[in-house]
Amino acid sequence: MRVVTASEMKKLDEKTIKNIGIPSLVLMERAGISVVEALWRELGNLSNQSFLIICGKGNNGGDGLVIARELLNFTEAVKVLLFDSSEKLSDDNRKNLELFKNVGGEVMYIQNMNYDDIAQLIENYDVVVDAIFGTGLSKPVTSPYNEIIDLVNLYSKYTVSVDLPSGISADTGKILGAAVKADLTVTFEFPKVGHILFPGRKLTGKLKIAKIGIPRALQDILPSDRFLITPNTIKIPERLRESNKGTFGKVIIVGGSPNYIGAPLLSALGAIRAGAGLVYLFGPEKVVYNAVQFEPGIIACPFNDNYLTEKAFDYLLRFVDKKTVIVLGPGLGREKETEDFVKKVLQNLSVPMVIDADGLYHLSNFKDILGSKQNIVLTPHPGELARFENLSVEKVKYNYILAEEIAIKYHTILALKDVTTIITNGKNVYFNITGNTSLSKGGSGDILSGLIAGFISQGGSLLDSTIAASYILGRAAELYDFEGRNKITEILDLIPQAIREVVS
Ligand code: ADP
Ligand code: ADP
Ligand code: MG
Repeated sequence: MRVVTASEMKKLDEKTIKNIGIPSLVLMERAGISVVEALWRELGNLSNQSFLIICGKGNNGGDGLVIARELLNFTEAVKVLLFDSSEKLSDDNRKNLELFKNVGGEVMYIQNMNYDDIAQLIENYDVVVDAIFGTGLSKPVTSPYNEIIDLVNLYSKYTVSVDLPSGISADTGKILGAAVKADLTVTFEFPKVGHILFPGRKLTGKLKIAKIGIPRALQDILPSDRFLITPNTIKIPERLRESNKGTFGKVIIVGGSPNYIGAPLLSALGAIRAGAGLVYLFGPEKVVYNAVQFEPGIIACPFNDNYLTEKAFDYLLRFVDKKTVIVLGPGLGREKETEDFVKKVLQNLSVPMVIDADGLYHLSNFKDILGSKQNIVLTPHPGELARFENLSVEKVKYNYILAEEIAIKYHTILALKDVTTIITNGKNVYFNITGNTSLSKGGSGDILSGLIAGFISQGGSLLDSTIAASYILGRAAELYDFEGRNKITEILDLIPQAIREVVS
């Protein structure tokens, strides 16, 4: 499903109005009606409920006035709250205010009220419709808007936001000064980035997407391609019936050090769960033998030292062939000598690689090498990417523009892992929103790297495999029946069920 920014949505609206000739009031009418319909689906009979609609001066407020007018057909208990009678309203807002008044609608002005009265008013209604700001919010919210937003959050029993919770940036999901916390948000035509990234994702509540008649063909004018990952966009490599282990490729997990014995094992198990034909673990002896004890299906490549050094490279070469996919990094450790090993791997091998964790740590010292490479997936969390790029975590977190730039700069697929994970090849961006706090514990990223490699080894493209793995890992977590109380290996055991959901 496509995700758009404020300016993209504006462009689509404008083209629909100017090029196609659908009047803006028609779009506004459809938007407003769709919110009432969503309310009806969500709350049932509208005639025994009361509605307070708080409208801003722009088109979002205009939508609110359509909603108010339509609700009057169900109940008399409808009141519109406007800010200031001297405010200059957008044309369609003004028109809809007139229509609302023509059907006998009542409006009140915040400028004439004190905050106690407003709080009381909000408390007295069953439903508060937030039509203050939509995608047009351009700067931090100041008084009196921020105060009204605070009052809504304090006193509303049930809040519906029109298009976007007021105060959320449609482009970043960040709070601009203050923001409404909605129970339900009804947005038009496409989700906005602000619904997908935190804190916007949390404040959006339940998201409904309503069609308002933007012609499909117009999507081609959009400058960017950004998508929300949904089950029907997941591509899991096919399982050929006439096959053997060679059919499904070979994954070599390269990692492990004295303090991190489990990480490469989890990555290996991820690759096995993905369906890889052969999974090797290349690492320090102790790490490898422990892994094979846990899972005999892992093929041992023990290196005779406590951590991997340059000397290990020739030994690794023995196992690598054309069908190999490498996961480089889980539990690798940060010994200086390991950096030399990592460098050699990158300089000499051209097989697909998923680089994570300490692999990224070492790579950061010679990252320019990526420019000359292909077939690399980087899977940092925000802390790792911040370090890699010498930026603050704050700068990096949920920064999909930066993610796009990095993917272009280094010729890689980048998965910026977080509660919403951002995956990009530099051209398209895919947002993954599956998962929950069952993944917020050591080892889930290791499983992810193995899963990605396992899908690649079966013939998936690097991008498709990264998308599928993120989605599947998140679904597996959601299938665990007591969120957060899981062992990380229990998530592994739910991966088959998560895959079954999308292949059947
Ligand atoms: P539009 O009318 O562009 O579709 P909205 O309904 O979201 O968008 O309205 C935003 C309206 O509020 C516009 O008139 C805009 O100029 C104004 N506006 C934007 N940001 C702020 C702000 N922080 N404080 C007050 N008004 C704002
Ligand atoms: P580790 O290094 O311990 O294996 P990472 O931080 O590298 O863990 O990876 C954690 C993984 O779990 C990422 O894929 C991330 O998206 C996911 N994750 C963690 N917490 C959540 C959450 N609350 N909701 C969704 N996904 C989460
Ligand atoms: Mg990790």
